[in-house]
Amino acid sequence: MPDGRLDARSLDLAGIRALVEGQGNEDWRALQAYKYAWMPGVDSFDQVRTIPKATRRALEARAGLSSLSLAARLDSEDGTRKYVWELQDGGFVESVLIPDEDHPGGRRLTLCVSSQVGCAMACSFCLTGDLGLKRHLSPAEITNQVRQVQADLGAQRRITNVVMMGMGEPLHNLEHLLVALGNMKHEHGLGLSHRKITVSTVGLVPAMQALMSRTQVNLAVSLNATTEEQRRQLMPITRRWSLAALMEACRGLPLARGRRITFEYVMLRGFNDSLEDAARLVALMQGVRCKINLIPYNENPERDLLRPSDLVVWRFQDHLVQAGLHTSVRRTRGRDISAACGQLGGVELLGRRATEGADPSARWRAEQRERARRGEARRIDDGRGDLLADGSPEQPPGPVAESAPSAS
Ligand code: SAH
Repeated sequence: MPDGRLDARSLDLAGIRALVEGQGNEDWRALQAYKYAWMPGVDSFDQVRTIPKATRRALEARAGLSSLSLAARLDSEDGTRKYVWELQDGGFVESVLIPDEDHPGGRRLTLCVSSQVGCAMACSFCLTGDLGLKRHLSPAEITNQVRQVQADLGAQRRITNVVMMGMGEPLHNLEHLLVALGNMKHEHGLGLSHRKITVSTVGLVPAMQALMSRTQVNLAVSLNATTEEQRRQLMPITRRWSLAALMEACRGLPLARGRRITFEYVMLRGFNDSLEDAARLVALMQGVRCKINLIPYNENPERDLLRPSDLVVWRFQDHLVQAGLHTSVRRTRGRDISAACGQLGGVELLGRRATEGADPSARWRAEQRERARRGEARRIDDGRGDLLADGSPEQPPGPVAESAPSAS
């Protein structure tokens, strides 16, 4: 909290229990306080009259209940909605709400959630990477995206699915992510089923293994390439964990019965969209319980990369399906409000609306991109990033210190 107290929404139940230590009846008091921390309409423990006064005082003295400040809410023509949040320290992150009326399993309302301010992974095609990493989000900042969007929707519409596919690399922020996921899933937290939560990663191998051994969620791996060289060109993280090492790790992950790993594959015209790529992809998937999600590249003025034609995407998909792989193609949603994959924190496609101030984060992002360009933000390939250094993503406790400008 800005006043130096703890943020109860960044704690798990055990953390809340520590706050009521010495009050007597701790297990019960902790559960009570935990419930209220996530109950709609509650902003402080002081409000909750059913908690005994002494306990309330103890809670209030040690912890508050944070909320994100909504900077803008932008509605797309296709029903997608982007929430732009302004953080305490002046940064911005985004969440994207994606209704899907046509899903075969029934209507869905998916929230795409951010895990970091910016991103250190520097994938060549992704605009969020242009910001560099500013800092990790706290557990509260992650879970509050879900809590507050749900509050905005009201009781009539429920968020059915959460995908950790917004800004940032969730597994680079593993400890905070685990607390956040725990609170999303807890029956007295946000009460989402683990089956409805998906964590997407560039493939940080040890963190992937830790995630799957410590919690049950769906895993999505952004693969995007079928050879080491091709993947290195797109995703610098491949220099730390090769494509071969990544696939071997995927084969060894503990998966619950009936579960599959989703492999996301951004399709770039003339780069990874040939039938040879499709054949190599089939070979890579041998022995992995998988689904493939093809994502035709979302073009933007910042990159000269192109999306393949629908026919090429269809042929590629057909090849995979013929080989027996479950394969879907992701529809592009929310392009007109810069909410599509790889556009978060990126270039403005809002046109006039942006200049009218519809998205207050636009200027901030432009500044951050400029700073990152000057080498002032942490990038995975700066040689000082924790990921390339020793392979075990450390968890800096607070904001990530900015590295000195690099030589380049
Ligand atoms: N860092 C995590 C979470 C972000 S998910 C990860 O990479 O998995 C964002 C997804 O969008 C990734 O699968 C990424 O490959 C994809 N993506 C990024 N930029 C894109 C673009 N311009 N067009 C289509 N997909 C893109």
